[in-house]
Amino acid sequence: MQFVKSGYHGFFLPEAGVALDGPLPRDVEGTVFISHAHADHAPRSRKSEVCATPATAALIRARGHRGPVREIPFGETLHLPSASVTLYPAGHILGSAMIFVESEYGTLLYTGDCRTPPSPTSEGFEMPDRHIDHLIIEATFALPIYKWAPHRELFDRIRRFVHQTLEDGATPVMLCYNLGKAQEVMHALAFAEAPGPPIQVQIHKDGAPLCRVYEQFGVNLGCWEVFDPETLPGKVLITPGNTVNMPGFNQIPNPRFAYVSGWAALENRSGRTDVGALIPLSDHLDFFELIDLCRKYAPGHVHLTHTPDSSVALHYLRKHDISCSDLKLMEPAASII
Ligand SMILES: [Zn+2]
Repeated sequence: MQFVKSGYHGFFLPEAGVALDGPLPRDVEGTVFISHAHADHAPRSRKSEVCATPATAALIRARGHRGPVREIPFGETLHLPSASVTLYPAGHILGSAMIFVESEYGTLLYTGDCRTPPSPTSEGFEMPDRHIDHLIIEATFALPIYKWAPHRELFDRIRRFVHQTLEDGATPVMLCYNLGKAQEVMHALAFAEAPGPPIQVQIHKDGAPLCRVYEQFGVNLGCWEVFDPETLPGKVLITPGNTVNMPGFNQIPNPRFAYVSGWAALENRSGRTDVGALIPLSDHLDFFELIDLCRKYAPGHVHLTHTPDSSVALHYLRKHDISCSDLKLMEPAASII
């Protein structure tokens, strides 16, 4: 089976006529599938035609996509001229899908970004009940230093940080991405068990339309509103780390920052300005989950992708007699450019 590079993170399967998280090569007929709505996987062109889950369709539209989106629910198979494609829940963020492709050249599962145990704000995690000839799996955190604590434990840490900060008369500022992580933190705070009124949250304005999509799809995000420094005292602010120098932030009374990300597992991240807590809540597999998943489903060949360093994971997989390599992408052939 051939894999041809396509766009930033994506690739094209010439025999199947299917592009995954990237555009079709120029003048080539085929179908584009999007695994989830994060910017490095969503279509670069706002007018392009793609297939995605209903939640991913809603999220990319909320971020400005204007092209046609064919909505494919989880578990429903789309029959194309040269392949059949089914989407399975990836556990990463709302709507995130693993893409299963069947063709006369065999079966392939592309995980996109995935997480098991799944994020409580996703639709869960489910593998196809079929043999997988080629597993293309993300390996963002592919070193043994990355081992995540259970969601329950990390959610407790988030609640404790927020309660303590509010009790101290300071403002909790949770630094995390607008899509996925922000909603996980909001979901954790919606279930805070402390006595008294519910915790009130303010979020960065770009996160608001995404939160509305989560709520449309039934995720409880608790009491929230858009960031307003005038009414922030006594509430929690959730905002991306790159926004802290923007207008209004210098009006936040006594801010105390928490960095919420898988990258918070690296202690040197505490060097970020005034970060009071590092909470390694990730929506990706950790190293051990990656190895376990590959062992459990025993695919014909594992292709690691989205990784800064695959050497240790490849070593462990080979120790377990799993055929594996980095994903090798061909440059688009001149004939199909
Ligand atoms: Zn992602």
